[in-house]
Amino acid sequence: MRLAKFLAHAGVASRRAAEEIVRDGRVTVAREVVVDPARDVDGDEPVAVDGRTVRPPEERAVWAVHKPAGVVSTARDTHGRPTVVGMVRKAGTRLYPVGRLDADTTGLILLTDDGDLANQLTHPKFEVTKTYLAEVDNGPVREPALRALRAGVVLDDGRTAPAGVRQLRSGVLELTLREGRKRQVKRMCEHVGHPVRKLSRVAFGPLRLGDLAEGAVRRLSPAEVQRLR
Ligand code: URA
Repeated sequence: MRLAKFLAHAGVASRRAAEEIVRDGRVTVAREVVVDPARDVDGDEPVAVDGRTVRPPEERAVWAVHKPAGVVSTARDTHGRPTVVGMVRKAGTRLYPVGRLDADTTGLILLTDDGDLANQLTHPKFEVTKTYLAEVDNGPVREPALRALRAGVVLDDGRTAPAGVRQLRSGVLELTLREGRKRQVKRMCEHVGHPVRKLSRVAFGPLRLGDLAEGAVRRLSPAEVQRLR
């Protein structure tokens, strides 16, 4: 892997900024200063920036958290509410939430210390799927409303992309989105006359919430992290 890519992968900086950091002579490979961002690194030689070792991607931490309602998904809250980051006590490294869930939404949110991975998973270009269960008012949701949700509805920030939508039982929808706009599920359902009473995210990309209990956290295995990319 090219050195600049390795650094971006490791969450040091964006690819472009990493190239600058290398050209500035701040990076060593096997304790030798390297100024060529295209230099190949194999992961065995220690890489350091400003004298601090950069860990290879396999060692980056990714945690799955089953967020309860009332916990905010920002790294810090100005109102002193509990945060998802505070739920992982044994992380031993600084974690950042991958995207956001509303304070009253429960379910799966990932935390990582890998900035590159966090960007990838939330960037619209990568279209990572997110699956939600929504309990809505005024059920059952009729076929025209389901069709509208699937095809896309026009919200104040534009038309939503095609989505997977099934009614599991009267007034309980499973929605699979490839976008992540603010309050998107709530706004979509409200738009078709079915305000959301309760919302939970059950999957993020290939990862399912599974039997992770509400309030529980677990670190992903290297294989699970690999599959996210
Ligand atoms: N859509 C919402 O409306 N809220 C969330 O928290 C996530 C998706």
